[in-house]
Amino acid sequence: MHDPNCLFCKIAAGEIPSRKVYEDEEIFAFHDIHPHAPVHFLLVPRLHLPSMAHAEPVHAGLLGRMMVLAPRLALEQGCRPYPEGGFRIMVNTGQEGGQEVQHLHMHVMGGSRPWLKG
Ligand code: 5GP
Ligand code: ZN
Repeated sequence: MHDPNCLFCKIAAGEIPSRKVYEDEEIFAFHDIHPHAPVHFLLVPRLHLPSMAHAEPVHAGLLGRMMVLAPRLALEQGCRPYPEGGFRIMVNTGQEGGQEVQHLHMHVMGGSRPWLKG
């Protein structure tokens, strides 16, 4: 459940400091250390799932709760409402998907343009 060598497991457990956005029993959210947009935070499950490629039907509820939480947190963090505002949810998966940290995470990005990437 908790991988002692995993950066995001340690951040979710408070063992490595981060700028917290939100937490509950199963989800932790924190600001990305290298933001690509005025709003850029990461949502992670406390459960150590290496990537979206590891998602199974048993994880559907958890992943659904993360997706439903993202819009609420995006607004709280300063994204303007849909449709003028909005946000981007990105889940990089695997080497060719651009994933660098091997613990499933959703990037939530938003705010006025331009952004660093995309
Ligand atoms: P990936 O490329 O795996 O989709 O995204 C990993 C993200 O984690 C990157 O945007 C990177 O800036 C962020 N990141 C890496 N290490 C840390 C850290 O120690 N603290 C925080 N807050 N973000 C990190
Ligand atoms: Zn982990």
